[in-house]
Amino acid sequence: METVSPPQTAWSRETALQEKRDVWQSIKRGFRGRCPRCGEGKLFRAFLKVDNACSVCGQDFTPHRADDLPAYLVIVIVGHIIVPLALWIETDYAPPVALQLAIYLPLTVVASLALLQPVKGAVVGVQWALRMHGFDEAHPEP
Ligand SMILES: [Zn+2]
Repeated sequence: METVSPPQTAWSRETALQEKRDVWQSIKRGFRGRCPRCGEGKLFRAFLKVDNACSVCGQDFTPHRADDLPAYLVIVIVGHIIVPLALWIETDYAPPVALQLAIYLPLTVVASLALLQPVKGAVVGVQWALRMHGFDEAHPEP
């Protein structure tokens, strides 16, 4: 037996008059580890633990669903920096493999750890700005 989903709210003047949210500003605030709404409160309570709510404006952060996207994006970003660098150095200078490993492996680890929290903050900022998941007060997730 199929379940019937509740009807979607139709577009109306009231739905269009919601507070505008600047996506780029939210990304920048999240990247800095700040609340995407006010830019003042802290977004994280631990390295990768998003706080439950903003300490300044009270914005609820629990609806965020960053999941694996920050890690995926960090792999893409760091890979697009380290791999061309390694290919360029190998083709032009051909240093010993041990020296390359001694540089590339720690560089990859440090760059990944350095980017993980800012990228996760940016993802939460995008989700808030686009009213994804439970960030839309007009249509909260059940
Ligand atoms: Zn805030």
